Amino acid sequence: MRNNDQKKGLDLKPLPTSKEWKLLYYQHGRPGLDEGKKLKGLCSYCDLQSICGLPKPETGVWRCEYYKSKVSRKSNLHENVLKLVEKAQSVNNFDRDIAKIMAETMNELVVHFPVKMDDDHVKVFTGYRVQHNNALGPFKGGLRFHPMVDIDEVRALATMMTWKTAIVNIPFGGAKGGIQIDPADYSPKELERIARRFTFALGNNIGPEYDIPAPDVNTNPKIMAWIQDTYMSTIAPDERNRCLHVVTGKPIDSGGSVGREKATGQGVVFCIEKWAQDNGFNLKGATYSVQGYGNVGSWAARLMKMNGSKMIAVEDVTGSIKNNQGIDPDDLALYVKEHGGVVDYPKAKAISHEAFFSTKVDIFIPAALENAINKDAAELLNVKLVAEGANGPTDEDGDEILQRKKIDVIPDILCNSGGVIVSYFEWLKNKRSEFWELDEIDTKLKKIIISAYDRVRDAAEKYKVDWRTAAQIVALYRLEMVYKERGIFP
Ligand code: NAD
Repeated sequence: MRNNDQKKGLDLKPLPTSKEWKLLYYQHGRPGLDEGKKLKGLCSYCDLQSICGLPKPETGVWRCEYYKSKVSRKSNLHENVLKLVEKAQSVNNFDRDIAKIMAETMNELVVHFPVKMDDDHVKVFTGYRVQHNNALGPFKGGLRFHPMVDIDEVRALATMMTWKTAIVNIPFGGAKGGIQIDPADYSPKELERIARRFTFALGNNIGPEYDIPAPDVNTNPKIMAWIQDTYMSTIAPDERNRCLHVVTGKPIDSGGSVGREKATGQGVVFCIEKWAQDNGFNLKGATYSVQGYGNVGSWAARLMKMNGSKMIAVEDVTGSIKNNQGIDPDDLALYVKEHGGVVDYPKAKAISHEAFFSTKVDIFIPAALENAINKDAAELLNVKLVAEGANGPTDEDGDEILQRKKIDVIPDILCNSGGVIVSYFEWLKNKRSEFWELDEIDTKLKKIIISAYDRVRDAAEKYKVDWRTAAQIVALYRLEMVYKERGIFP
């Protein structure tokens, strides 16, 4: 059976010789589901790809170590990010000295911290926080809990945050962080202790006016509340309530903002609507597919439905599904909440990863992890537009192919900036002890992201470059101005 998969072009590592699969219950990265219950059964991925050929578990979604090795493919993301800077520089002749600053991160923190597990033994974890640049304002960026988190990935994502905040003109710099764990391996109580102990290890390297984390892959408002509480508990009592904004993406009762949860997906959809308007394209009846059905993907999908568009295919870590008559995004979101993933959704059929990428749709929204649109995937894509909800979803080869195939791309640093824009609103309203209504937030978000869209489109026309390079030019231009005005100390 493995040979068949290899024939299909799947990039699989050799099967373990032992039949003793280590099976894990995968909780869709949502701590809290089933209270960490470890089920016994077979890997859903292997089942889907006919590798194990054994019966599916009755409930839940499983994945084995072999599956994990399949998803662990990764290229040098930071190097790719720097290549984009070089490309933008060669087009617009940016100041060499400022480019040297931009090529480096300012601070890189690696912390190893002990946490007591439920069975009383102690485990040491590794966490990262990379602060790329704070010329425009406090460092800002998400925290990711994922087995593939490493210093290269965090560096790259921190650097991209600097471009993102620069493009949309908000007073933040760029940072990113994470812990190298699979949350599915830990109980909710263990996860809470891990998040809190990580916050303690970061100490004053984060802070409401210095570096403000937010949710990213496998982190959520609940985890932000734990971080907020831990940070506030470690400072002087009379300072505590002035520090609500140490994180954004918090639950609303803890100072979070309405509209933050959907903000990234909302920004993606505002960009798609603008693209449709500029290109005389009717979104009513248009088709789309989504990779990643977590925060960004599921919100983008649900908001696209409001335009009368039809979702045909979806892929997440558990598998890929398709229904030519359309998949209802709200119904699928409820299913995923209950079952942990899209695989086995009864109103669509399971398809292979390759069939997912080959599905002909008007718009593809990658909203999972980086490097998903590699050479092979880009060759398969049959779409008019790629709207990048994820950070770095297209690798260098994939990007070249998209350009050759004349597929429009709304690049990540523009397309998924809705999250950091509404995080900025949350941060501001915490500082001013205000409450902002949803319509006010959506109106402001739309205004900011669309003017950034216009700047990127104008730069693409002016310099006759692709949109990714144009977005980079817009970001670098703003940073160059600031450095030139202020000079380099001393
Ligand atoms: P999430 O944890 O809520 O969802 C991630 C989704 O990706 C899940 O559905 C998961 O099953 C899927 N996935 C993971 N590995 C996969 C694989 N190998 N193949 C297919 N699907 C896979 O995370 P999120 O917050 O929605 O973030 C998704 C992307 O959007 C990331 O690149 C993140 O950096 C980016 N992003 C997030 C925000 C935000 O506000 N959350 C803001 C900007 C950018």
